[in-house]
Amino acid sequence: MDSTGTVPYKSIAYAAKQKGKKVGIITSVSIDHATRASFYAHQADRDMYYEIGKEIVTSNFDFFGGSNFLKPETTFDHKKAPSLFPILEKAGYKVLKGKDAYAQLPNKSDKIILMNSDGGPIDALKYAIDQKPSDLKLADITSAAITSLHQDNTNGFFLMIEGGKIDWACHANDAATTIQEVLDFNTSAQLAYDFYKKFPNETLIVVTADHETGGLGVGNGSSSLKTKFLSHQKISHAELSNAIGNLRKNNPNATWDDLKNLIAAQTGLFSKITIHETDRSALEAAYQKSFVDHQNETAKSLYASDDKIAALSISILNRMGSISWASNNHSAAYAPVYAIGVGSEQFNQKMDNTDIPKKIATAAKLSLD
Ligand SMILES: [Zn+2]
Repeated sequence: MDSTGTVPYKSIAYAAKQKGKKVGIITSVSIDHATRASFYAHQADRDMYYEIGKEIVTSNFDFFGGSNFLKPETTFDHKKAPSLFPILEKAGYKVLKGKDAYAQLPNKSDKIILMNSDGGPIDALKYAIDQKPSDLKLADITSAAITSLHQDNTNGFFLMIEGGKIDWACHANDAATTIQEVLDFNTSAQLAYDFYKKFPNETLIVVTADHETGGLGVGNGSSSLKTKFLSHQKISHAELSNAIGNLRKNNPNATWDDLKNLIAAQTGLFSKITIHETDRSALEAAYQKSFVDHQNETAKSLYASDDKIAALSISILNRMGSISWASNNHSAAYAPVYAIGVGSEQFNQKMDNTDIPKKIATAAKLSLD
């Protein structure tokens, strides 16, 4: 939509569909979240999750993937509405929960919605740093999407793949989790690149971001990088918050040493990394306030309400590793654009983000009008 929320625009995905190409829209967060919604929906507000999800039917796109739907039964004005799932099934979509459900699907070229199994997280796939082998990963969805869009199709396809939680980890100023999310996204980029190597004269891959988040800087006064410190972090800010919250809940008499041991095991602080006295006393003061006085327990960022002690521990670890953060929100920093394949020479310059779909349209001979 335009900035007034009244004039719909035609996205590159619709331009591809109009030309007879198959279209896939996949992400590591929910299927109805803002970035992928802009490819298939036309609603005035990003929070109109039910209305956005329902537009899958009118898009008639071929493959959707992500964690789940945020509001499958509730409209923007908080009214109970018919569940999206039977509506999507009636429109011909196979709603598949988990990677086994996809593996068992006889006809991979069906119209597909691939999401987490029941009981899995709704709002997003787990952070890569927290994933277990059985969890649905962005690479699983990417591999399935490429297979399904390519099979029995001679007209080509457009696929948008979003690593949506790089942004979330940056909102929380959590460098180790951010790095793992970028590596996880890179696994999907590799799958796309493998496809390109098979069809180099018919494929264009563009990798970019809609913005930077957090004002992430490498170096923070010292020029000695200690990014290896970050590798001691075993779980995300979200899971560290859960672990600290569980300790507080399950063990009302938890001591400072109990908490210190938990932080040491999950971040390397106190055990593998010697921390400054000021940081130690700040953490102990936070323990006193949170565990003893039961005040000041959470630190809120855009997508998470973190335990203050978890946020403080990660902030100390990031500083020790020579990482600096300028904010908890989106920044105006330039975003890189990488491209390979047919028409990639159009991307070797500074450009406005709105030029990107125009250049893709030129390369794929699509019309955005
Ligand atoms: Zn964001």
